[in-house]
Amino acid sequence: MFGFLKGLGVTLRQLPKKKVTLQYPDVRPEWPERFRGVHRFIPELCIVCNQCARICPTSCISLSGTRDANKKMRIDTYDINFDICILCDLCTEVCPTEAVLMSDTFELATYSRDNLYLDMHWLYNNELAYEQRHPDRVPQTAGEAKEGEA
Ligand code: SF4
Ligand code: SF4
Repeated sequence: MFGFLKGLGVTLRQLPKKKVTLQYPDVRPEWPERFRGVHRFIPELCIVCNQCARICPTSCISLSGTRDANKKMRIDTYDINFDICILCDLCTEVCPTEAVLMSDTFELATYSRDNLYLDMHWLYNNELAYEQRHPDRVPQTAGEAKEGEA
């Protein structure tokens, strides 16, 4: 009986407090800017230096590129295996051009591991979706870099 009353006391004390839970997925969380979600990728910024793939502790990045007519390296394929990515952020830290960045996308639940191999087009679409969600953050990331390139 004492345990029941004690538990009820805890519940009653919590009732007037501000709610911290969200009605997800109808109400979505607003993650901080440094949230380490699934990557976004901007192909035109990538110089195919391979640093992201080299530093990756789980070897989940694979990429390939070719030299164009102006002898500039262009990315052809860029894949991340999110089955083994630990979202450590090391790849984005070493990227000299900010071609690969973290996003606030986090919903990757799927019935097949094959669906966790995400390619350059998926990652670029994730960048576009991120820019739409956070136009205020774009100058610090993609937009600024794109301007610098022009
Ligand atoms: S976040 Fe870490 S584990 Fe994932 S791709 Fe980047 S370096 Fe590799
Ligand atoms: S994403 Fe960045 S670190 Fe990786 S190959 Fe491209 S430029 Fe280099």
